[in-house]
Amino acid sequence: MNSDKQKALVVLSGGQDSTTCLYWSLRQFGSGNVETITFDYGQRHRIELESARNVAAYAGVPNVCVPINTFSALGGDSLTDDAIDVAGECDEDSELPNTFVPGRNIVFLTFAAAYAWRRRIGNIVTGVAQTDYSGYPDCREGTIESLQQTLRLGMESDVEIHTPLMHLSKRQTVELARDLGAIDAMALTHTCYNGERPPCGECPACLLRARGFEEAGITDPLLQ
Ligand SMILES: [Zn+2]
Repeated sequence: MNSDKQKALVVLSGGQDSTTCLYWSLRQFGSGNVETITFDYGQRHRIELESARNVAAYAGVPNVCVPINTFSALGGDSLTDDAIDVAGECDEDSELPNTFVPGRNIVFLTFAAAYAWRRRIGNIVTGVAQTDYSGYPDCREGTIESLQQTLRLGMESDVEIHTPLMHLSKRQTVELARDLGAIDAMALTHTCYNGERPPCGECPACLLRARGFEEAGITDPLLQ
């Protein structure tokens, strides 16, 4: 299928990175060509879904929220299971933190590609980065390239997956957000692994975010 290469679908989680990707897409494809998709995967922190809605409304783009609650049924990670506390350190066996939801990005991008296929959207944009401290293997370039190939074959499509943050540090991501005029929108985003607003300031996600803003010399509007 030939898709519309002017149109883009952003996977919007309501966090800092996907919001930066939304503004990158607006610059790249134009405001009338961008829409967003958010996944309700049974995350404990429902505030993420609200943040995604608010960010999309602020940027003036459509947002669709798709329910996929299978990850919470599978359990075992701290982002979907209330009984598991968020731990910063890695599990000895997997060498991954318990915030890792196995397969999450693969599933998100597959559903995003299905949605894009229906609407003939030729581009998907995701905020994954392999520089991320957590080392999630489904955020790495090799996974995304391979998945793009699988989706193209499996849907007979020419969809392209864009990862503008793939090789950026947190500092560089904040600087990119500034250059794209996305800093104001950061006040609406949600990053905290403990689901707190104002953010807890102590969980791995809060610490990473704080370091990025600090290194970039920019005040995080979420903390004002
Ligand atoms: Zn936090």
